[in-house]
Amino acid sequence: MIYLDYNATTPIDKLVLEKMTPYLKDFYSNPSSVYRFAQESKRAIENARSYVADLISADPEEVIFTSGGTEADNFAIKGRAFFYQDKGNHIITSKIEHHAVLKSCEFLKKIGFEITYLDVDKYGIIDLNQLEESIRNDTVLVSIMYANNEVGSIQPIKNISKICNKNGIIFHTDAVQALGKIDISVKDLNVDLLSISSHKIYGPKGVGALYVKKGVKLIPLHHGGGQERNMRAGTENVPGIVGFGEACRISKEELKEQEKKIRLLRDKLEEGIKQKIPDIKVNGHHDKRLYNTLNICFKYIEGESILINLDFEGICTSSGSACTSGSLEPSHVLLSMGIPHELSHGSLRFSLGKFNTMRDIDRVLEVLPLIIEKLRKISPFWQKKYG
Ligand SMILES: *Cc1c(COP(=O)(O)O)cnc(C)c1O
Repeated sequence: MIYLDYNATTPIDKLVLEKMTPYLKDFYSNPSSVYRFAQESKRAIENARSYVADLISADPEEVIFTSGGTEADNFAIKGRAFFYQDKGNHIITSKIEHHAVLKSCEFLKKIGFEITYLDVDKYGIIDLNQLEESIRNDTVLVSIMYANNEVGSIQPIKNISKICNKNGIIFHTDAVQALGKIDISVKDLNVDLLSISSHKIYGPKGVGALYVKKGVKLIPLHHGGGQERNMRAGTENVPGIVGFGEACRISKEELKEQEKKIRLLRDKLEEGIKQKIPDIKVNGHHDKRLYNTLNICFKYIEGESILINLDFEGICTSSGSACTSGSLEPSHVLLSMGIPHELSHGSLRFSLGKFNTMRDIDRVLEVLPLIIEKLRKISPFWQKKYG
């Protein structure tokens, strides 16, 4: 099998699994218990918290563990909206956010909040002028993702944060895809809230965190025990948190070398496809794009058909985002970038990671042109043009 869907999830790193195992088997104590046996679980959580904090240059007290990126996004957006409800009810986000952000905003809209969705240009990047013009007296939150999961476009986060700061508005960024790929410093970026997830950086699924800058207040969404400094009730996912911490520790070590290796493979794949297959369009910006992501529209055919044919060859890819596949709606990200409906239906995403090799890329470049040719031969659109 050749796995090229790292933006959907990553395999777990062997070292991460090893680190977790004792906390699944032997150290099963509830970290809130008072006997000495429970101290080991508590210590492990705090140790992991310092590794997570270290990767994003935060203080450990600013890291709140959640069940993943989705919960972190929900917590940031709803927690912030509920806290400042009497000060204002206007939120600014973008049209290309992950559904965890978009659906949270949709929910808030139903209960009386107003949402402005910023446009993106053809590269999938927002316009800072439009952001400034959208800010109102009652704006309580700006939420713009760091890097997009579908096309990999990277937003000018530091400039967005400057604008928010100048206007005294809290800024949240979904950095789930940026973590482990871009060197993130919350201090340098000066963001208030930042979402991250473990399973996108070779850690276990079902764990993530929200960075909450000192002094920023949120209403908790989970009520119960006093875990996570009363911000997130529920017995901690000790093995998951330990795994996430280890994944962060490894990520910091490997950041540079991974970029070098994976970028080379992605570029080789991109060049190879451009050379071998006519009538394609690479989506996203050439440089302001994650080094592991390649999103391509193949004209005249369906992305889903390509995906299924690649699957028969043991190659895992994605068409649109994992959350929208299965439905016939074309990707909201590609549509927002101005890519026409018929073209966005033919899109396919390759997302690479640290376990890919040059042989994987060679194999894709061997089978993909044949699949595309076969599908185009039976496509009425292609026949109309060339038949
Ligand atoms: C995967 C992803 C999420 C959701 O994270 P989970 O941990 O799977 O809930 C949110 N935002 C982006 C950009 C993602 O890629």
